[in-house]
Amino acid sequence: MQPKDLLQLSEQFGSPLYVYDADKIKSQYNRLTKAFSKVEKLRINYAMKALSNVAILQLLEGMGSGLDTVSIQEVQLGLHAGYAPERIFYTPNGVSLEEIEEVNALGVQINIDNLSILEQFGAKHPNVPVCIRINPHVMAGGNANISVGHIDSKFGISVHQLPHLVRIVENTKMNIVGIHMHTGSDILDIEVFLYAAEILFDAARHFKDLEFLDFGSGFKVPYKKDDIETDIEELGKKLSKRFNEFCTEYGRNLTLIFEPGKFLVSEAGQFLAKVNVIKQTTSTVFAGIDSGFNHLIRPMFYGSQHHIENVSNPKGKERFYSVVGYICETDTFANNRRISELKEGDILSFKNAGAYCYSMASNYNSRYRPAEVLWMGGKGHLIRAHETFEDLLKNQFPLPVQEKV
Ligand SMILES: *Cc1c(COP(=O)(O)O)cnc(C)c1O
Repeated sequence: MQPKDLLQLSEQFGSPLYVYDADKIKSQYNRLTKAFSKVEKLRINYAMKALSNVAILQLLEGMGSGLDTVSIQEVQLGLHAGYAPERIFYTPNGVSLEEIEEVNALGVQINIDNLSILEQFGAKHPNVPVCIRINPHVMAGGNANISVGHIDSKFGISVHQLPHLVRIVENTKMNIVGIHMHTGSDILDIEVFLYAAEILFDAARHFKDLEFLDFGSGFKVPYKKDDIETDIEELGKKLSKRFNEFCTEYGRNLTLIFEPGKFLVSEAGQFLAKVNVIKQTTSTVFAGIDSGFNHLIRPMFYGSQHHIENVSNPKGKERFYSVVGYICETDTFANNRRISELKEGDILSFKNAGAYCYSMASNYNSRYRPAEVLWMGGKGHLIRAHETFEDLLKNQFPLPVQEKV
């Protein structure tokens, strides 16, 4: 997408605005399937918590993707979007037995990540095919908030508890059809990932009736120029080979599953916001925009760097700006960042705004959440409207009238 396209969309649909490029999502999906083309049975389950707009779900469904969900509401959105229940996986953490049973009743593949619920579920429903989430305790991840495979993590059943796990499965006679791991976001080293895969294979050898192995996600995408990313092609080559060897050893052609979120949608998204005010202090030039961490929290929450472009003046002389939001709290998107010269009224584009951006937005400061647009066939299609005042009042009731004493 060109700066002029983005400028036109912000004029047409208003600001702030999320824009997603359908072609980019498609090319990422195809890149992943191509990297693993040597695996006979491959399945991509899009991790919808990254970006859960129904139109995006439908776009990926059309490409052949399955869905990875973490709540019953995500399951319901997936069904609403047209996914067959057998193409939906449910990988929750810390949810109740009741919710797991409800999702199971919808015909969705459940994935259990603790021994307590596994034992209770297995005792009640021994015939239901269940997947188990293992924690391989491999430290992989760019940031302590998004590393979920390490020793203190709340996610998954520790590989050190395998004997206990196997005992529960034998006692309940439950039907384990898959083993899963998700070590955390931002895998930079393929050897580390392959090491975790070996731990998954070791766990898999304890179960005789497996149908699939799910390697989760954690593919890193570039956030700025020359940033490192997971080498998907190399991972595809090496892991496919190991996976096929394991299938031969296991005596059955298993399905290899990945559940990427960020990889599929991060780079496809841009967030457009308008410069409300330029404020020069003795040390800094602030650019205050018509948004804040209510719309895009990753810089404040994870310390993420989103590249920022001035689409109103993409070729101007570069100057240093601190880009800040309008929320009444420290709300900094970028400190002393080089951006092409800004004027009040200019439109900024924040790159990599497809994953964990809109889906983490809130109404803090009683602001509306922005609209979302899908760019497809050289045109912008509105896939979610801006919120309105009615949305803020929805589900609220005024103070009850009290009887005077
Ligand atoms: C969040 C999540 C993913 C997706 O992670 P990305 O880093 O966005 O690719 C995959 N699997 C599970 C279980 C998750 O919770």
